[in-house]
Amino acid sequence: MGTGTARSTLLTSANAPLLFPALNSAQIARVASRGWIRPVTRGEVLIEGGQTDVPFFIVKSGEIEVIRPSGIGDLPIALVRTDQFTGDISMILGRPAQMRLRVSEPGEVVQLTRDQMHALIQADAEISEVLMAALIYRRIEMVAQGIGDAWLIGSARSAATLRIRAFLTRNGHPFKYLDIDRDADVRGLLDRFGVDAGELPVLICRGEKVLKNPSNQAIAECLGFNGGIDHAHQRDVVIVGAGPAGLAAAVYAASEGLDALVLETSSPGGQAGSSSRIENYLGFPTGISGQELAERAYAQAQKFGADVLIAKGAADLTREGGAYDVKLEDGATIPARTVIIATGARYRRPPLANLGQFEGVGVYYNATFMEDAQLGVDDEVIVVGGANSAGQAAVFLARTGRRVHVLVRSNTLSESMSRYLLRRIEETPAIQIRTRTEIVALEGTGRLDRVTWREGDGAVSTHDIRHVFLMTGAEANTGWLNNRVTLDEKGFIKTGPDLTPDDLSAADWPLERPPYLLETSCPGVFAVGDVRRGNVKRVASAVGEGSIAISFVHRALAESPAATVTLVRPR
Ligand SMILES: Cc1cc2nc3c(=O)[nH]c(=O)nc-3n(C[C@H](O)[C@H](O)[C@H](O)COP(=O)(O)OP(=O)(O)OC[C@H]3O[C@@H](n4cnc5c(N)ncnc54)[C@H](O)[C@@H]3O)c2cc1C
Repeated sequence: MGTGTARSTLLTSANAPLLFPALNSAQIARVASRGWIRPVTRGEVLIEGGQTDVPFFIVKSGEIEVIRPSGIGDLPIALVRTDQFTGDISMILGRPAQMRLRVSEPGEVVQLTRDQMHALIQADAEISEVLMAALIYRRIEMVAQGIGDAWLIGSARSAATLRIRAFLTRNGHPFKYLDIDRDADVRGLLDRFGVDAGELPVLICRGEKVLKNPSNQAIAECLGFNGGIDHAHQRDVVIVGAGPAGLAAAVYAASEGLDALVLETSSPGGQAGSSSRIENYLGFPTGISGQELAERAYAQAQKFGADVLIAKGAADLTREGGAYDVKLEDGATIPARTVIIATGARYRRPPLANLGQFEGVGVYYNATFMEDAQLGVDDEVIVVGGANSAGQAAVFLARTGRRVHVLVRSNTLSESMSRYLLRRIEETPAIQIRTRTEIVALEGTGRLDRVTWREGDGAVSTHDIRHVFLMTGAEANTGWLNNRVTLDEKGFIKTGPDLTPDDLSAADWPLERPPYLLETSCPGVFAVGDVRRGNVKRVASAVGEGSIAISFVHRALAESPAATVTLVRPR
């Protein structure tokens, strides 16, 4: 990219200066002081696709070609020229390289190991800023162009395809998608290879492995999302959940020198990651998509050295001999001196008999570009719910002029929705509010075809509507805790002053002092964000609680190990 010859590469775009900025000589000298300078020869492979522990290079002279390795021939993606640097977010995240880097013009490079590069970005704010911005722009461009090491073949009519697209997208992993309903040749190819419809979708990793309808865990493993993260050693703090609260806790913990590990059952970003546009988060006057906010926070946590395990959910929390063990769904355990629970909340599933049958094929819990891609431009849709998330979904889905029915059980929307969203809804003629209305039946063969709703006066009617977005109420993600910390009557975690003397006595609280502000009924275990009783369900409050929890973690770590308590279920 940059100046020079006009060889064509995939990443050539108007954004080239953002993607491949040049460092000045003082900056290059600072980087070189942490690594070494060496000559490179034409054809030398500096990084191989799939390589772990990826080094970092600045070109002092010569040129490096970025290539996507492929079974049908190498594809040049970009050129890195004098004063420009290599790298992709994978390097920060500790994931395998997606591309091969080969010297196309001999010269000289500055080389840093991954650890040296990490030390650099933590110590040199100016260079860190240039690098982070370029790596994020590169990733955005790769995602936009579908340049990566994963190919997904599926159908817009399959729930598993939507799940995998959402998983890859929300993990910021670039991939190419082929829809068998739109490309008959691909369907024919799969038939030839004996892949039948029940085995779809198919994910091809790095052009090597073919995974049929893989679980999120299998995808994370194949693409190396969790490579090199040590599960065995005791952490200062294990943070469960990588929504805004958990990621904020990770950023503050790691930046303050704590050994922090984050566990995420699905993808970083939590509920906020599914928001099409967050407009009330401080510092983003024109709004930011939840996906972008999540990607930035995830990269920031990793930059400071926090480890994040993807598609690894916590299944239990026990205490043995003065420390905690967080048990994973796969049976492994992670030892921790303190724990932060940031597992958030999820939409309540309405009691409709055949709901599960239509999830992902007509019934959705997110309204992002992925779900939108399942819809025709003129398809009518229903959004159920009266809070901000439903408002955002309605505005987003109606932006192309398609008809959106917003169903709420109450008499009005104004109690539960922010004014700016109410105004936006009022100004969008395609959105129709139906108060005191609820869905009573779903019908369809293979996918949702019809919806029946009942209005306040008892009138029941059936409509040929094939897409329903459910955004009703929040249920705390606390089932995995098996009641080992004290919950309120709705399943949210009680902390600090919310814990009554009776609660503490039932939980065998072992210390003289009362629980800290965000501390649960177990000493050294904190709860932050939407999962906490009394939390204001907003990104800012989740981030705030995640951040301040770390000051209490420091205090808990400084205390002598709390008496050898054994975690018990509250009586
Ligand atoms: C569509 C939508 C739009 C929104 N828009 C706005 C807005 O504009 N402004 C605003 O301020 N707020 C908005 N909100 C609310 C905001 O997103 C939430 O308040 C915020 O995300 C809460 O953050 P959290 O980290 O506490 O929990 P969550 O975001 O719920 O994150 C919890 C994380 O924990 C993970 N997890 C759950 N169980 C486990 C387990 N056992 N092991 C490991 N991981 C687990 C989940 O997968 C999830 O990633 C919106 C919410 C939605 C759904």
